[in-house]
Amino acid sequence: MRFFHVTTGAFQAHTYFLICEQTRQTLVIDPGEEFEVIADAIRAERLEVVRIVVSHAHLDHFWSAGALKAMTGAPIHLHPADDFLYTQLPEQGSWFGFDLEDAPPVDVFLKDGDVLTFGREQVNVRHVPGHSPGHVMLYNEADAWVGDCLFASSVGRVDLPGGDGPTLIRSIEDRIVTLGEHYRIHPGHGPSTTVARELNDNPFLGGRIPWRPSL
Ligand SMILES: [Zn+2]
Ligand SMILES: [Zn+2]
Repeated sequence: MRFFHVTTGAFQAHTYFLICEQTRQTLVIDPGEEFEVIADAIRAERLEVVRIVVSHAHLDHFWSAGALKAMTGAPIHLHPADDFLYTQLPEQGSWFGFDLEDAPPVDVFLKDGDVLTFGREQVNVRHVPGHSPGHVMLYNEADAWVGDCLFASSVGRVDLPGGDGPTLIRSIEDRIVTLGEHYRIHPGHGPSTTVARELNDNPFLGGRIPWRPSL
């Protein structure tokens, strides 16, 4: 499996493309702002998009889900606990001064432990609430795509609807770190990192500093 990402918009969110190289079938994670950048990548790489996975329903992670579904016909996947955010795309846009239309309904509701195939490849789904109630991550044997749970030397904010600090830290420590120190971590924003690096450097892990709910 090969993967790459593009980074779009005011939020500088990453859209990841996970590709089965034999078939070109591709799973897209988090189609954000600037649909043309995403569409150009699909055309340039001659990808057949077969799944659209929304890690969590903040606008910077599913802004272009509707446009991408219209282009590819691929089903949109989301955890049901984030559907209340997913159905508020116009409201979320208005918080930031953008005029957005509703996204089309979710096609596939994800649950913890699901396995998603694309071509001859597959990734696992894990529920990691805290940044939002229905946040999921995807992982294989070496890489994890963790959305806005965990960043290089930081963690996701918890002041948006449904966010909860202690739940987020529990998700990271019990459900991401336990994958193993060798895992490469690919967040929704900023640089990739590893579990080992975050165990050493991340001030929010290991009880080093108390959780600050306003972050
Ligand atoms: Zn978010
Ligand atoms: Zn984000």
